[in-house]
Amino acid sequence: MKQRIALIAHDKKKDDMIALAAEYRDYLAGCKLTATGTTGGRLHNELGLDVERMHSGPLGGDLQIGAHLVNGEIDCVIFLRDPMTPQPHEPDINALVRACDVHNIPCATNVSSARLVLSRLREL
Ligand code: PGA
Repeated sequence: MKQRIALIAHDKKKDDMIALAAEYRDYLAGCKLTATGTTGGRLHNELGLDVERMHSGPLGGDLQIGAHLVNGEIDCVIFLRDPMTPQPHEPDINALVRACDVHNIPCATNVSSARLVLSRLREL
């Protein structure tokens, strides 16, 4: 079965997300991808990846991804958070990370942990 991966990047981390996804493009192209709105748009436009797009994060996209995760529909979350900028949807961010912990779903919140997770998943 295709691995189901959620991708989210805060604004100052979006370039990092594109670079990361470019690095793993061949693997990601074989996965079922879900992303928040703007992140998903860039992944599609810049890398040609087929991505199911939720709302933008500040408009509830994290919560939509969290709901999919709770339903057992997400195997891994790559969530490039910006720790230096206050986010209006901080409660939603915390809810998604908490849902990952509740359901024991890997959640990589920076590029180096994302590389480790994606490299391992690619081997499975
Ligand atoms: P976005 O949402 O991909 O729509 O920007 C992510 C976020 O900023 O929380």
